[in-house]
Amino acid sequence: MTAPSELLSRLQVALGAQYRIERELGHGGMGVVFLARDTTLDRPVAVKVVHPELAIHSSITERFLAEARMIARLRHPSIVAVHTAGESTGLFYYVMDYVPGVSLRQRLLRDRQLPVAEVSRIVLDLADALHAAGTAGLVHRDVKPENILLDDATGRAMLADFGIARAMAAETTGTRTGEGIAVGTPTYMSPEQSAGEEVDARSDLYALGVVAYEMLAGRPPFRAPTAAAVASMHLAEAPTPISSLRPEAPAALAHAVMRALEKDPAIRWQTGADLRATLIGASPLPAPPIPARRRGRIIGAGVALLLLLVTAVVAFRPSGPPAGVNPRHSMLVLPF
Ligand code: ADP
Ligand code: MG
Repeated sequence: MTAPSELLSRLQVALGAQYRIERELGHGGMGVVFLARDTTLDRPVAVKVVHPELAIHSSITERFLAEARMIARLRHPSIVAVHTAGESTGLFYYVMDYVPGVSLRQRLLRDRQLPVAEVSRIVLDLADALHAAGTAGLVHRDVKPENILLDDATGRAMLADFGIARAMAAETTGTRTGEGIAVGTPTYMSPEQSAGEEVDARSDLYALGVVAYEMLAGRPPFRAPTAAAVASMHLAEAPTPISSLRPEAPAALAHAVMRALEKDPAIRWQTGADLRATLIGASPLPAPPIPARRRGRIIGAGVALLLLLVTAVVAFRPSGPPAGVNPRHSMLVLPF
C-alpha cells in the first residue's frame, strides 16, 4: 500500500492550486478521504482518492468518471454533492462537499442505539435522498452506516459514495453495468443484490431498512461469520420484529422498518416517498401478510443460493471466476 504521506503529496500535485489539502479525515477499504480547502471559493471540501493499487485497470477509469458524472447530476440536501472528479498520474479522485460531524457508524459505536425520534429523522432524510436518486434512475448499492454522515451544521443525515460500488464492480467484471457480481457490504445487502441480480431503487430501501433496524435494536437483523451465511439469512430468514426489540418505537416507524426488509421487492416500499408518507402518518398502516406459498419458495431459493455461493467461494480465484463458474453466482465483497 502507498504510504499516506506519499499519497497526500501525489494528490496535491494532481489537484493543483485550486484545492489545498489540509489533513486526512478517514479511510476505508477503497481509498482515503482528505479535508481540503477550495482556494478559489474559500470553503472546505472533502477529497476522496482511490488507492492507486485498486485503480490500475483502464476500465475503472472510464467507469469511475462516468459514475461521477451521473452523481454530479444529483442535487439533494441529503446527498453529498460531487463538485469535480479527475484522474492524474494514475490517481483517481473526486471532490465533494465537506460534511462536518461524524458518520453514523461512529455514532453507533459510541451509543449503540439511537433515540427513536432521531431514528425517524435520519430515516426520513435518507428516504428523501433515495427517492431523488430513484427518480433519477440511480441506485446507490452500498447504503450503510459508514456512508451516512451526520451533518453537525444542519442536523441532516447525508448519503455519501453514490455509485462507487458499481464503479468498482465494473473493474472486476469488465462489463459496463457490473451486473452479475454482488458488490456491497453483506450485512446491508438486499436479497436480490446478494444473489447478484439486477437491482433497482428498492434494493437501497432494503439497505435503509437494515440501517434503521440497527439504529433501533443496536444490532443489524442478520449476523453470521461469513458473507455467504449472511446472504442466505437475507434470502430466507425472517428478521425478529423490531417492535419486540424496541417496544417504544412508534407503530409507524416499526412498520416502516419491517416493510423495508421484505424479501420480495414487490411488497417492499416502492419509493422513498411511500416510506416517508407512512412514517409521517400520511398513509394508513396495514402490513400485507406474506402468503405461505411465497415464503416456502423464498426459503427454497435461499438454500439453493447458499449451495451455489459455497461452490463459488471454494472455486474463487482473485483473477476472476474460473471457467465453468457462472459469475452470477459468485459474490465479491469489497471492504468499502
Ligand atoms: P468508508 O465509507 O468505508 O468509511 P470512505 O473512504 O468512504 O470509507 O470514508 C472514510 C471516512 O471519511 C468516512 O467514514 C467518514 O468519516 C469520512 N468522510 C468521507 N466523506 C466525507 C465527507 N464528504 N465529509 C466529511 N467526512 C467524510
Ligand atoms: Mg464511504
